[in-house]
Amino acid sequence: MKIAVVGSNTIGAYIARKLSESGNSVDLFERKPHIGKEACSGLFSERIWKYFPEKVSIVKNTITSATVHFPKKTMKLDLSPKMLVFHRGDFDSYATDLAVKAGAKLHLGAFAKLKSHDKNLVTLETDKKEMEFDYLIACDGSVSTIRRELKLPDPHFRLGIFFYKPEESNSSFFDVWPTKKGFIWKLPRGKTTEYGIIEEPDTARKLFDVFCDKNSIKQEKLISAIIPMGLVKPFYGRIALCGDSIGLTKPWSGGGVLWGLIAADILVKTFPDFNMYQKQLKSLFSMRIARSNLLLKAFPLVPYLQYFAPAQIHFDADWGPKPF
Ligand SMILES: Cc1cc2nc3c(=O)[nH]c(=O)nc-3n(C[C@H](O)[C@H](O)[C@H](O)COP(=O)(O)OP(=O)(O)OC[C@H]3O[C@@H](n4cnc5c(N)ncnc54)[C@H](O)[C@@H]3O)c2cc1C
Repeated sequence: MKIAVVGSNTIGAYIARKLSESGNSVDLFERKPHIGKEACSGLFSERIWKYFPEKVSIVKNTITSATVHFPKKTMKLDLSPKMLVFHRGDFDSYATDLAVKAGAKLHLGAFAKLKSHDKNLVTLETDKKEMEFDYLIACDGSVSTIRRELKLPDPHFRLGIFFYKPEESNSSFFDVWPTKKGFIWKLPRGKTTEYGIIEEPDTARKLFDVFCDKNSIKQEKLISAIIPMGLVKPFYGRIALCGDSIGLTKPWSGGGVLWGLIAADILVKTFPDFNMYQKQLKSLFSMRIARSNLLLKAFPLVPYLQYFAPAQIHFDADWGPKPF
């Protein structure tokens, strides 16, 4: 079958590789002239190696715990599995190289637009050139062009902002400060240290500025991007969507790469039965997202609830707290 994949970051590249390996003809479109997302901390659990051949040379640091700073108390999260810090651009390039090696045709600097689609064919337009495909997979990120062209609903949006400080640190724990509807973090990345925030778009910058001022942290060049949240409809006709384009990020952290890869695997295994893809996504993620949203609503109560928090818990960054 002839398949177009739009967006060549980790999720799109993974799907392009898997569909190429199973004998399909895959064209992979990336609107940027180079591969790699800039606005991402690149913190993934060790489960990342279930999806890619292990390449430890691109790991910048390993994180085994996090300290959550409530206003009057701290809580330690023992992270299992461990978390690995990557340069996100390096990881996207690695994933795309593997897709190309598997046979996917990469089109760089190619902004793909949906020209038309019916029950037999999908037509894409890039640089005024039209190309026809049996199926289209959109991995084109949080403000997905394809989702909007299909008039599918948007997920909820939060905002992520961060900067790198030239402070070397190979520490194995990172710090977290809960805010009203998100959190601020300090992440040791080897040669640098990263400070960032995820919050509602209208308050993120202000809360981040106040935090940095209060702690005498001088901000460097800020990098920011929208983080979607909440699973939206993942297909229409012969077109399926995956990753940020369907809002698939962990509600408690905004991390989207592992959940995106889990969804990508479901998509590849059920391909081209997109009804089944949707069904399996919903059964795996919908309840988890709903439960986490309820917990997030309790965030403003943190100053009162902190006293009941245990001093230490086991935490699986992909699925949440684990019993001792
Ligand atoms: C500040 C911040 C920090 C984050 N930190 C983490 C983290 O530590 N760990 C984690 O797991 N997640 C993190 N995330 C979330 C993570 O970055 C996303 O969930 C993940 O990148 C989603 O991957 P994706 O492939 O779906 O989309 P994206 O990575 O956004 O990739 C979409 C790609 O599609 C391309 N594209 C878009 N439109 C078109 C088009 N029309 N034609 C061709 N190409 C197109 C884009 O150029 C882009 O390359 C963070 C996000 C932010 C904003």
